[in-house]
Amino acid sequence: MNKANSSPVHNADIIIIGAGVIGCSVARRLSRYNLNILLLEAADDVASGASKANSGIVHGGYTAKAGTLKGELSIRGNRMFDQLEEELAFGFKRTGSLVLAFDKKDIFTLEKLVDNGKQNGVEGLEILSPEEALSRCPSLNTDLLGALYCPETGIVSPYEFTIALAENAVHNGVSLHLDTKVISIEKKDSLFYVDSGASVFSAPLIINAAGASSGDVAAMAGADNFTIHPRKGQYLLFRRGSAESVETVIFQPPTEMGKGILVTPTVWGNLLVGPDAREVNDPGDLGTDPESLAAVFKTALRSVPGLDASKVIRIFSGIRPTGDRGDFIIEESSVSGFINLGGIESPGLTSSPAIALKIEDILKTRGLILREKQNYDPVRKAICRPGPLADPRDITENIKLEYGNPDRMVCRCEQVPERVILDALNRGLPIRSLDAVKRRTRAGMGPCQGQFCGSRVKEYLQNECGLDDSTIIGHSRDRQEMKRILDEMRSLLKE
Ligand SMILES: Cc1cc2nc3c(=O)[nH]c(=O)nc-3n(C[C@H](O)[C@H](O)[C@H](O)COP(=O)(O)OP(=O)(O)OC[C@H]3O[C@@H](n4cnc5c(N)ncnc54)[C@H](O)[C@@H]3O)c2cc1C
Repeated sequence: MNKANSSPVHNADIIIIGAGVIGCSVARRLSRYNLNILLLEAADDVASGASKANSGIVHGGYTAKAGTLKGELSIRGNRMFDQLEEELAFGFKRTGSLVLAFDKKDIFTLEKLVDNGKQNGVEGLEILSPEEALSRCPSLNTDLLGALYCPETGIVSPYEFTIALAENAVHNGVSLHLDTKVISIEKKDSLFYVDSGASVFSAPLIINAAGASSGDVAAMAGADNFTIHPRKGQYLLFRRGSAESVETVIFQPPTEMGKGILVTPTVWGNLLVGPDAREVNDPGDLGTDPESLAAVFKTALRSVPGLDASKVIRIFSGIRPTGDRGDFIIEESSVSGFINLGGIESPGLTSSPAIALKIEDILKTRGLILREKQNYDPVRKAICRPGPLADPRDITENIKLEYGNPDRMVCRCEQVPERVILDALNRGLPIRSLDAVKRRTRAGMGPCQGQFCGSRVKEYLQNECGLDDSTIIGHSRDRQEMKRILDEMRSLLKE
């Protein structure tokens, strides 16, 4: 189809391709201006790529090399999270972090991290003695020689953050198109014509935030002067409550391949362990395997020897969109009006609010007039907030309640009542998968992984969203397959 000669269905001032944390941060930032913005996402929900499967750390900013965009934007982004949390209520906590040293070489690495962090402007960095480190986290390996403490590190629920950004962007007028995979881009005169097969969209400005596919999307417009090498990382998620003994983020010294295996609490009180790093050819390769997971677990034992493999309830992996320049690529390409966000690997989540500001600067510099909206509303209310779980005996009556009662306990593991499910379904973002409900409400996040609540959640999707059974997308992971991999991993750990 010649897009330039056919009538575009949707015209806009700006098209953003990809609704991960980067596309959604940019969309939300620009939604304060009088602009017509389209946000196109290939998947059925926002936060479907790396933004849903990462460590969820708001990094302190001492690892990213001074003088790079990663260094500059991670520290700037980190400092924006308190206000973002106030406005968007997605779940963020400043826990601080420790990088452990087990030998003299590691201590030298910590000293270099301190120097680098200071150059980036990180405050409060301190190398602790083993006793000081153990007093911060008594479950650490007592063999440690020291630890780098960073008070500015935080944790965030990465998909809840992305959902919050998207909800607020849509609330402020951004038009979100899910299930809209861009398959070709053509430029005629000063307009881009973006084709998804089902629709054509046009705008004079494109922001390519397609994550691991950003190289492919750039190539569609002839704007590809970088390549992406997908790098997979696998994780183990422990049941809620297991983070009681680990209240801070625990790293091992970074290597060439990344920040190493970490042990971290999540904002919901789970424990998260991972990721490893392995180059893959396919950016869609999200498989997990018992051997890699056993290796991840064993490496994590070096930091926290008391980790209990029987408490693992889920395994997953994420794909790092590693670029070929060793830094974030944030620039207008040689194709005028086509702006690339490539190679946004870690600390991309941390940097996301600052990346949005950088995009705003690029737009201003190229002469776009940004007029503030009178009615811009930065506030979005939480769907649910972390808190202690009730004694299961106290919720048995709520579980038995009928559909239509707001107190009906839909998910018994995570204790999610009907009112929370209904709230999530009525936020202005189309929802048609069990995972989309899970990421917003936690229904299905517990030890049974949706076995109990899956059919209940389906009922709400049918009745509240008018979906029929065939159009509802089930959980992305097969429970039996996950159990098999976990059993094999546990056997390997016994060898
Ligand atoms: C294992 C791992 C651990 C990490 N840990 C951290 C951490 O602790 N802290 C931190 O700061 N950062 C971390 N990161 C980095 C962070 O996750 C990423 O920088 C961030 O999620 C990138 O967001 P994104 O929006 O660019 O990409 P994505 O979230 O992948 O979003 C890109 C979106 O574009 C869509 N898309 C692709 N092609 C098309 C198309 N043709 N048309 C329409 N849509 C399309 C995809 O469906 C996807 O939803 C980690 C990353 C990984 C993988």
